[in-house]
Amino acid sequence: MSRIVLIKIGEMALKKGNRDYFESVFYKNLKNALFSIECKVRKTRGRYFIEEFSEADLDNIESILLKTSGLVSFSSGYKLEKNMDSLLSFMPGLVDEIENLKNGKFKTFKFIAKREDKSFPLNSYEICCRLGEAFLDNSKILTVDVKNPDVKIRVEVRDSIYLYFNEIRGLGGLPNGVSGKGLLMLSGGIDSPVAAIMMAKRGMKLDALHFLSPPYTGDLAKDKVTKLAELIKPYSPGLSLITVSVTKILENISQYCKDSFSTILLRVFMVKIANRIALTRKCKAIITGESLSQVASQTIDGLTVSDSQRELLILRPLIGMDKSEIIDLARHYNTFETSIIQAEDCCTVFLAKHPVTKPGIKDTMLEYGKIPDTDKLIDEAIDQAQTDKMN
Ligand code: ATP
Ligand code: MG
Repeated sequence: MSRIVLIKIGEMALKKGNRDYFESVFYKNLKNALFSIECKVRKTRGRYFIEEFSEADLDNIESILLKTSGLVSFSSGYKLEKNMDSLLSFMPGLVDEIENLKNGKFKTFKFIAKREDKSFPLNSYEICCRLGEAFLDNSKILTVDVKNPDVKIRVEVRDSIYLYFNEIRGLGGLPNGVSGKGLLMLSGGIDSPVAAIMMAKRGMKLDALHFLSPPYTGDLAKDKVTKLAELIKPYSPGLSLITVSVTKILENISQYCKDSFSTILLRVFMVKIANRIALTRKCKAIITGESLSQVASQTIDGLTVSDSQRELLILRPLIGMDKSEIIDLARHYNTFETSIIQAEDCCTVFLAKHPVTKPGIKDTMLEYGKIPDTDKLIDEAIDQAQTDKMN
């Protein structure tokens, strides 16, 4: 008897023509993610098994799987010798384990058997009956409920017997990498890390771009965004963090332009710089954490101005979400606590007191035109960008 984790894949199983490609990317991602853990990853007919690992690594494996896209669910379980005796002698230990799961939350159970190896002497129904009886004999707490059990114990007779239970929902989505690469505009806020994970989950590889304005923003801002990038990285392995200083740009905006346009003008510069960096890093889209009308620059007019400066598609996965829904996701993805650390953001340093809420493209670009040599400002900012590969 040995420990296993069984993985089920989701949507990619439906991608007829691309299925082999998607599965090969998923397999590679899974093996890379589990690189530091001694284990074996095996694939059989749309199922993946993690085997030959030590019990002490189980929590670690589970936390990696929760961040691996393309995986719809996983369950921990056991691989047993292919005979009824090994199954029956396993029941007392299984009862013990299930009774203690989640502080004794489970009260009812059901066995579900599948016999792929038809030479096995008992059929699926008979396997369930025998195991059900043995299970009941050993438990004082759990009873059978075939309609709506708290725990489904699945038994699959294949090359060996696989027994698993306590299915945990995974990220879903598609294997990271199958949807090309995107450049995430990563602020220190709550929204953009959530946007990142949503796109990583849809198969997009990410690089992250952060704008700083030293000395107005200090080391804390850089540390915070580095921490956020590290939290996003397991969802999109290989992520690099690019930091660009917009101090000179902000000073020029404040010197030459109307105060009420400063926020939208900074957005214009950000989008232009993001486009340039995205193209050099072979990104096909820019990702932001914008949500409609959350702040002045995110009104439909503000977004229209930002969009007017783009070459690449801008993806805004949070556009229709309320802040409270975004916060729920940030908590779920474990980015919330880092996002709320207090640190200066470059956008708030020179924030307009009364930003225009309905900026027009023409008026905004008229203000933009007041700044001498904007192209040079952008070139300089990009030349001085710093790139860090996340650990
Ligand atoms: P918050 O949770 O405070 O709203 P936010 O990340 O949404 O944080 P906003 O000021 O609302 O910040 O900015 C909207 C979007 O613009 C962000 O989601 C992010 O994609 C991008 N952005 C803002 N500031 C920066 C920055 N300093 N560097 C990179 N991208 C930024
Ligand atoms: Mg926001």
